Amino acid sequence: SDPSKSSLPSQSQQHQCEHSDTTYELANATFVMLVRNSDLEGTISSIRALEDRFNSRFGYPYVLLNNEPFTEEFKRRVSVLVRSKIEFGLIPKEHWSQPDWIDEENAAKARKQMIATNVKYGGSVSYRNMCRFNSGFFYRHELLQKYKWYWRVEPNVKFYCDIHLDPFRYMEENNKIYGFTITVYEISATIRTLWSIVTEFVERYPEYIATDNAMGFISDDHGKTYNRCHFWSNFEIANMDFWRGEAYTAFFEHLDSKGGFYYERWGDAPVHSIAAALFLKRDQIHFFDEIGYQHDDWGHCPIPDEIWEKGRCSCSQKGSFDYDLSSCKPRWDRFVNS
Ligand code: GDP
Ligand code: MN
Repeated sequence: SDPSKSSLPSQSQQHQCEHSDTTYELANATFVMLVRNSDLEGTISSIRALEDRFNSRFGYPYVLLNNEPFTEEFKRRVSVLVRSKIEFGLIPKEHWSQPDWIDEENAAKARKQMIATNVKYGGSVSYRNMCRFNSGFFYRHELLQKYKWYWRVEPNVKFYCDIHLDPFRYMEENNKIYGFTITVYEISATIRTLWSIVTEFVERYPEYIATDNAMGFISDDHGKTYNRCHFWSNFEIANMDFWRGEAYTAFFEHLDSKGGFYYERWGDAPVHSIAAALFLKRDQIHFFDEIGYQHDDWGHCPIPDEIWEKGRCSCSQKGSFDYDLSSCKPRWDRFVNS
């Protein structure tokens, strides 16, 4: 054999399947969970579901991140669940705090106003730190440097169907960069100035805008206004090199410099989604229909019978969020078919 022909990157792992002699080559990928020590039970529940429906047959590793040190008890209770590698990381302070140059008086005024108008998490600084971290920093964490692909997982989510196909390998082999299961409308009060700031970026850096992009999904008037559709980022399967790349780095810098993570309450979901829609080709964004998934009140259940049966899904197709009034999936369908 010719070693120069090996396509294995140095970090790639191989996993011996239990009942076969063939070696399955895993993608250079990991699960990523941002959690608090108090999320222990929810973390266990999500990992258990993921292992049962997918990962016990594949053995992808996990990276758990926290802005505070994980307790020994947390690490012990979680490590026991999986055979694959699991690492626990601390987030550096600079990646998880309101920058000094933010005018705290303005930021506090915005929080007060949002509390008064009942905007979800409107009064929370830690939620804002979280959104900013997920927007611009998680993929820079030292434990994630060795990985290219990630699957974001939150505590207390459900996976309803057997996942036969390896989503990471699927993404890699089909030239996909960003994958989602649920798409919804953002709350306008949290992103008052976001679109005008995005527009400024687009005008300043036209070279970053992809031909054949997905602007048609997030704007109904060729970019004049944002229709607030975004991919729900509590679930993401994506390529971190996209976030690490030139376009997104410039984009995040531009957004961050305006202070909207604190003066407003920009979420990582619209930030990621707008970037994916503008800097990627439309067919690099993938809808994972076969991944039945639940986060809080909303869940995706595969509606086509053959997918639902193949996955032995435990969800009701009737309960799927896909065609709910708050779902952007109908727009996605129209966009894809346009
Ligand atoms: P929602 O999905 O927007 O309702 O927000 P969540 O409360 O679920 O938070 C999103 C993710 O960030 C989840 O994975 C949480 O566990 C995590 N998270 C939120 N706040 C904190 C925090 O202060 N510290 C840590 N370590 N994780 C957090
Ligand atoms: Mn959540």
